[in-house]
Amino acid sequence: MRISVIGCGYLGAVHAACMAKLGHEVVGIDVDERKIAELSAARAPFFEPGLEELLGEVQETGRLSFSTDMAAAKGSAVHFICVGTPQKKGENGADLTYVDAATAALLPYLSPGEIVVGKSTVPVGTAARLAMTLEQAGLNAHLLWNPEFLREGHAVSDTLHPDRLVYGVAGGSEEHEAVQVLDKVYATPLESGTPRLVTDLPTAELVKTAANSFLATKISFINAMAELCDAVGADVTLLADAIGMDDRIGRKFLNAGIGFGGGCLPKDIRAFMARAGELGADQALTFLREVDAINMRRRTRVVELTRELCGNTLLGKRITVLGAAFKPESDDVRDSPALSIAAQLQLQGAVVTVTDPEALANAARRFPELHYEESTNSALNRADALLLLTEWREYRDLDPYETAALVSTPRILDGRNVLDASKWRAAGWTYRGLGRP
Ligand code: NAD
Repeated sequence: MRISVIGCGYLGAVHAACMAKLGHEVVGIDVDERKIAELSAARAPFFEPGLEELLGEVQETGRLSFSTDMAAAKGSAVHFICVGTPQKKGENGADLTYVDAATAALLPYLSPGEIVVGKSTVPVGTAARLAMTLEQAGLNAHLLWNPEFLREGHAVSDTLHPDRLVYGVAGGSEEHEAVQVLDKVYATPLESGTPRLVTDLPTAELVKTAANSFLATKISFINAMAELCDAVGADVTLLADAIGMDDRIGRKFLNAGIGFGGGCLPKDIRAFMARAGELGADQALTFLREVDAINMRRRTRVVELTRELCGNTLLGKRITVLGAAFKPESDDVRDSPALSIAAQLQLQGAVVTVTDPEALANAARRFPELHYEESTNSALNRADALLLLTEWREYRDLDPYETAALVSTPRILDGRNVLDASKWRAAGWTYRGLGRP
């Protein structure tokens, strides 16, 4: 099938490459000339494991091209909308400017019978509004919502082998003619048994925001337990192991630490609360305000613990922050808790050095005032305290004895509770975890 993918960021670039891998003829379109130049040269414009190899592989087949010109979408049977929906400045709601602009720019190139498929995460009601726009243009084109559940760091395999596919169509009927078209797009994952659910448009939009709210709640729940563990000297990692053995609860997403960040969870729960308010259902989501507050409190807690670790003052202390990305295997620093903590420490008088295997360029664009070191060893050199804030494999694997030889004072705060505390203590370190004695 001929497919266009509009918006080639973390979601769209991966989607475009994966659709070509599934055998379709794909054009990726973005307004960002730099991104399109990189992608056209089969280079990934951001770090995502396996993406660059995939781009090289599918571009050789001639099935994948990129353009900054929306006219390139003409003639595609399916048009995926993958543009950003960031938080509005100074408000909780989602900024839909990009979704609206991309749809408006696509309209002149649509032909009857084609389908427009939204993948961006949008406030419930957006799809119905865009469907109306298509209808008013008299194009006889259909609009579907097909929310995306990929995880950065696993985006290629999540797109090729999704755990479920959700199609939102007007009326929610399996018989809708666009359902068969989308089934052809996803023929390979469907044949291998991926479950597919057909819903109405608002349900499909809500599936995504509900899933993200649940995950955020699970993380904040265990972080709230970490606060209690800290108050009584209990161990939140053992608590999580024990409650996680109940299969109604499950162990995943129960890792206490510095909290969630990134380009999705924080802005999605805020947009969800804002939308509920507009719908007169704000009470249903007031709990998300608490989820957000618990999450933001983690960052202040780490700053306070670091101060304690450094003998109750941060002034002039050389602090090394291991990790800048919001999670390992990604270079995404949007709302990264690690960077936010690094910036707060610097503001309070510490001399902060940040290192990360992939995210330093993005980090330096966002926080130019921080000092960055590419080499882990140089970053560790003469540190008064280490903060492990993004759990990249290479930081988890640090040897406590070798590391002790590099730093000025062996103190470490394990912001992800991933290190073996007894091993580090045995090597002479003052070790602090979060919610651990
Ligand atoms: P992103 O900022 O990395 O990418 C968005 C892209 O859209 C940018 O490259 C931008 O230049 C482009 N764009 C903006 N306006 C455009 C226009 N008018 N025409 C063409 N291109 C345009 O964002 P992202 O992380 O890829 O997220 C995109 C959407 O997918 C968001 O709604 C997000 O919530 C959702 N989502 C993201 C992920 C993820 O892990 N990143 C997962 C699931 C869902």
